[in-house]
Amino acid sequence: MRELLQTLGLQATNPGAATGGTEGWLDTRGEELVSVSPIDGRPIAAVRMATADDYEAVMTMARTGFERWRMIPAPQRGKIIGEIGCALLQRKESLARLITMESGKIIEEGRGEIQEMIDVADFALGLSRQLYGLTMPSERPHHRMYEQWHPLGIVGVISSFNFPAAVWSWNAFIAAVCGDAILWKPSSKTPLTAIAVQRILDPILDRHDLRGVFNLVIGSGREVGERMTADRRLPLISATGSCDMGRRIGQQVAARLGRSLLELGGNNAIIVGADADLDLALEAAVFSAIGTAGQRCTSARRLIVHHSRKEIFLSRLKDVYSRITIGHPLDGSVTMGPLIDATAVTAMMDALDRARRNGGRILYGGKKRTIQGLENGFYVEPAIVEAPRDLPVMMEETFAPIVYVVEYDRLADALALNNAASEGLSSALITDSLRAAEEFLSARGTDCGIANVNGGTIGAEIGGAFGGEKDTGGGRESGSDAWKAYMRRQTVTINWGPALRKAQGIRFDVGARPDHTAR
Ligand code: NAD
Repeated sequence: MRELLQTLGLQATNPGAATGGTEGWLDTRGEELVSVSPIDGRPIAAVRMATADDYEAVMTMARTGFERWRMIPAPQRGKIIGEIGCALLQRKESLARLITMESGKIIEEGRGEIQEMIDVADFALGLSRQLYGLTMPSERPHHRMYEQWHPLGIVGVISSFNFPAAVWSWNAFIAAVCGDAILWKPSSKTPLTAIAVQRILDPILDRHDLRGVFNLVIGSGREVGERMTADRRLPLISATGSCDMGRRIGQQVAARLGRSLLELGGNNAIIVGADADLDLALEAAVFSAIGTAGQRCTSARRLIVHHSRKEIFLSRLKDVYSRITIGHPLDGSVTMGPLIDATAVTAMMDALDRARRNGGRILYGGKKRTIQGLENGFYVEPAIVEAPRDLPVMMEETFAPIVYVVEYDRLADALALNNAASEGLSSALITDSLRAAEEFLSARGTDCGIANVNGGTIGAEIGGAFGGEKDTGGGRESGSDAWKAYMRRQTVTINWGPALRKAQGIRFDVGARPDHTAR
């Protein structure tokens, strides 16, 4: 472990606040934060959290960074993000291993997370030549009207533990190419990954004399997070996490009339149609339900299966579950690692208890699991629960590998079940019927931000705008035109004629000109 940390530039003592640039690390004086590996419950390393003074010092550097960065042409900014993408590619394996050690996700998913960052960097590089504004025909003679986009300022990014680095990149690379500086507060459960990422950026920022463009503050949500949400110098707070966190942050940022971009919880369903290809349905369901040990915002938590296929589907699902290997997530043959901590294990056990007490039948798994040699890790068996349609706990996001199975008769019924969740993030339908697929995608179909046909709920590509409706918060990040959230729009009108023409043909002649006829 020590060797891995050293490879990534993490020395024995690491401060909790940094402004982009090797010399920019601040000697933070806050309390110690210990990063514990969920794999074996052992501490990996300790960092010091940022104090109020550290925060101020970082903000000062971020302001300096922003003032320089915003005047660099966007295509040049794009090239620097491209360099960061290359540096991530070079460190892909070690960074993936650190993510696995700190978050517990299997190494293949750790690699996928870094690949996602590299992909976003590529996207941002291309985007840097496409931050287009529209030109509109003016109603007045000798007038030109168009819109242009300017950077917002310093963007605050608050991220969750389950994607300790990729969530930051969805925001940071796009915001940076737009000309913003970034202040990142990672989850207190995964500070080492954030420091390692900052260490990869540092030499690139130094080379271009761009200290202060990417900045990091380590600290709790209550301390550093709330300082950020109250800080008027951060015109946009992009926050990823639970709905409870989003409700609080959304209100605090709105109270100062700031902008927030919220990427919150999900309670996602896969509908398995009467005509579904069952092999495909099983693959989609299992990957979506147990990928990242059920700790993705897009994890499938509900399988809504046509009654004619339920029996065969459940029997095959149990069979596939019995072949899932649970264990050390660095072992390439393991398909499911641990949950993040003891609280997550307790939340899973409580949810299963509530399911049992309200008519749910645990068809598979759902127990704590002890792995030899990793006795203090947080391992569980994934659970399949046959659920009545009105099971209350099924309508909550339990961040664990529990999947509830309910049956349906008509597609309209399945869609109503899908849309009954208070969150609206991801959804999927497995079908060979064109009509069913189009119904699912129609205005009266799924109400989620992500709708997949013949795929699972997890594993979005970076090229689309990612996010969800209702309690998921309404934010959109990463691809498509999500960049607009990180910029301010300016509508420009240039009058190149000799007269002051008024819109809507208004006559307002106050006799300012010797010749009163010109309007
Ligand atoms: P969390 O809500 O516990 O914490 C998320 C982040 O918010 C952390 O950095 C935390 O320190 C910070 N925070 C908490 N309270 C805060 C406050 N009052 N002010 C400012 N910051 C505060 O979430 P988590 O357990 O790290 O992550 C799991 C949750 O994140 C799940 O609900 C999951 O669905 C959601 N998630 C959503 C997306 C998405 O894109 N929609 C992606 C990943 C995770």
